[in-house]
Amino acid sequence: MSEFQSTATNQDQLKGTVVAVQANFYRVLLDNKNQNFLIPENFKSDYLLCTRRTRLKKIGQKVIVGDRVIIEEPDWLDGRGAISQVLSRSTELKRPPIANADIILLVFALEEPSLDTWQLSRFLIKAESTQLKICLCLNKCDLITYQQQQQWQERLSNWGYNPVFVSAVQNQGIETLKEYLQGKIGILAGPSGVGKSSLINKLIPAAQLRVGKVSGKLQRGRHTTRHVELFNIPGGGLLADSPGFNQPDLDHEPTDLALYFPEARRQMSLGNCQFKNCSHRDEPNCVVRGDWERYEYYRVFLEKTISYKKQQQNVPDTESSVKLKVKKSGKSQYEPRLASKKYRRSSRREKHQNLQELYGEINIQEIYEEAE
Ligand code: GDP
Ligand code: ZN
Repeated sequence: MSEFQSTATNQDQLKGTVVAVQANFYRVLLDNKNQNFLIPENFKSDYLLCTRRTRLKKIGQKVIVGDRVIIEEPDWLDGRGAISQVLSRSTELKRPPIANADIILLVFALEEPSLDTWQLSRFLIKAESTQLKICLCLNKCDLITYQQQQQWQERLSNWGYNPVFVSAVQNQGIETLKEYLQGKIGILAGPSGVGKSSLINKLIPAAQLRVGKVSGKLQRGRHTTRHVELFNIPGGGLLADSPGFNQPDLDHEPTDLALYFPEARRQMSLGNCQFKNCSHRDEPNCVVRGDWERYEYYRVFLEKTISYKKQQQNVPDTESSVKLKVKKSGKSQYEPRLASKKYRRSSRREKHQNLQELYGEINIQEIYEEAE
């Protein structure tokens, strides 16, 4: 360690956020340039292309998109540096690998395609299961009347959400979204055709994503070749682009489902059901069962969750007691699976999978190789 480094205070350290990972290189967005005297004035870029210090490799410290890092020995002429330290993560999602994400920007269209409350609920359940903050963004508000908008506002507020009405084509609500994302790491999610690319282009003009010209298989093609990347929103905040979408699976524990409905959470915060393991169906003295609009949705999604779980347990036969582990060498072997407790909270891995579905069809293998 040089003399300079040993006497350096925290403020002297060059910090940034990893916005993209490619092979062994990390693109790092430097913290507020103007306040950091370490950055020479004639350095025009906001980014440094960094490698990872061998010491980090040795201790097995991975660097993923979203990581806050300390950079040593910047070479301002070449725009290079070396990551010497990864600051502790506030959140960590494995699929896609994103550190420090704060918020999911869930985008749906009000019309074209018209808002399907069942599909929306399915996405909301998935988003809730990640335990990140959710910003529900309803796009194409130019296609409905003010009165219709008021009706949606009221309905969704009864669900426990405060939607932001936006129109990407008419530039409405964009500033509000920017406020939500200010200083945050956001992840954009939602079905295709709702205007996600259009919104990204409004939020981040430099992104210039193609709008509405791709569909079906082509769209997948567009996304599978892409890496997870955080776009810098002018004025503050980072946003991960989301690829196309699958109908999210209901692969959480059935007993967790109620936690993913704000309406049910509210009821449960006011009192307890008589039975600790209440499924909130027909049990006596249940505090969740009630006349809230989506109680019916809860019932239907609970049945679907249970049958999904049964289906998963049945195929293949070995799934229930052992799991297939594929080793790096390519060989595979069966390992005993931990007994699944009935009321177990969903594991971290499950949460990661949840995000993966919400996020869409990314080439996981590619990302894992990167993250390694
Ligand atoms: P994505 O598949 O979610 O990325 O959606 P796109 O951004 O590709 O948009 C799909 C279609 O919706 C395109 O034809 C857009 O022009 C249109 N669109 C996007 N935002 C709006 C909006 O705010 N209002 C209206 N009327 N159309 C929009
Ligand atoms: Zn109950």
